[in-house]
Amino acid sequence: MMDFLKLGIIGYPLTHSLSPLLHAELMRGLGLEGEYAKYERPPEQLLGCLQALGQQGLRGLNVTIPHKVSVMHEMDWLNPQAQLAGAVNTIVFERQPGGGLTLSGHNTDIGGFLRSLPLPVMTALPHSHVLILGAGGSARAVMTGLIEAQTQAITFAVRNPAKALSITSDGQLIRKTLNSPTVLNLVTVDNLSDLSGFTGLINTTPVGMYPKTEACPLAPALLETLPETAWVYDLIYRPLETQLLQLARQQQRLSLNGLDMLIYQGIGSFELWWGQSVPAALLPSLRHCLQTALTV
Ligand code: NAP
Repeated sequence: MMDFLKLGIIGYPLTHSLSPLLHAELMRGLGLEGEYAKYERPPEQLLGCLQALGQQGLRGLNVTIPHKVSVMHEMDWLNPQAQLAGAVNTIVFERQPGGGLTLSGHNTDIGGFLRSLPLPVMTALPHSHVLILGAGGSARAVMTGLIEAQTQAITFAVRNPAKALSITSDGQLIRKTLNSPTVLNLVTVDNLSDLSGFTGLINTTPVGMYPKTEACPLAPALLETLPETAWVYDLIYRPLETQLLQLARQQQRLSLNGLDMLIYQGIGSFELWWGQSVPAALLPSLRHCLQTALTV
């Protein structure tokens, strides 16, 4: 019989987080006993907070906005993916025989993103040119995953290139470390006039997210210039179908929302904490549970 595990998520704010529901459903599905609590902490309360939570017996934490980068300095060990991405979304607390505590930092967003890709999209990446809208935290996880998968080229389209320059320079280092041929470019989103050279498009900006669901990060006419076979992925899952995805569906394109990435990053954290893998048979009930929560 597995021990009762104390788990949770740290971030600010945490009002809309679906992680407690996801982990409750995983524990229920696997007959495991534990709790998954929300620790809403603003940046000024982060220092010392992780050690204190560890001392209270926590086994693991998910980390979300705005702490994914700042917690890195408090880790005793970082796994290679977290090091590459420069961000931690999962912490594992290990109690040492002498009573000490070690904190290891992981990044399951990268694996979560890759596992969410349909097989034909994944296998075509070495011949794909992917357009990413935005250059924030999730764009970095997506970039790291795409480079790991040997994607041919990535172009970032942003509103302020001067602010986003570090994503391509960090990407060059990741590319060298992973020995990947990925070519990286950065453009101003307003300068995009023709998308015919892209294999797929990923929105990593919050444009279109609840409550501003009428917003769309690209004009419909511009989206139409994508090749017929191009896929469109929006990392947003609230709503499940954004304006961007609605347009893509109307244009008969493969359209993907952010729900599976959310589920797979959660599964990645769960497997680290519990030391057991989640059977694929559990996926339909996880999707159903989160979809229901998102549609009420
Ligand atoms: P972030 O670090 O704040 O980055 C947001 C990016 O979007 C930045 O490049 C920002 O540009 C750009 N942006 C923001 N508002 C914009 C606007 N009005 N027009 C154009 N660009 C704009 O946020 P994040 O953590 O990457 O999250 C972004 C989205 O991804 C959110 O909707 C989040 O829910 C979703 N997400 C989903 C998952 C999942 O598992 N499905 C995981 C992580 C994130 P500036 O730098 O110029 O502000």
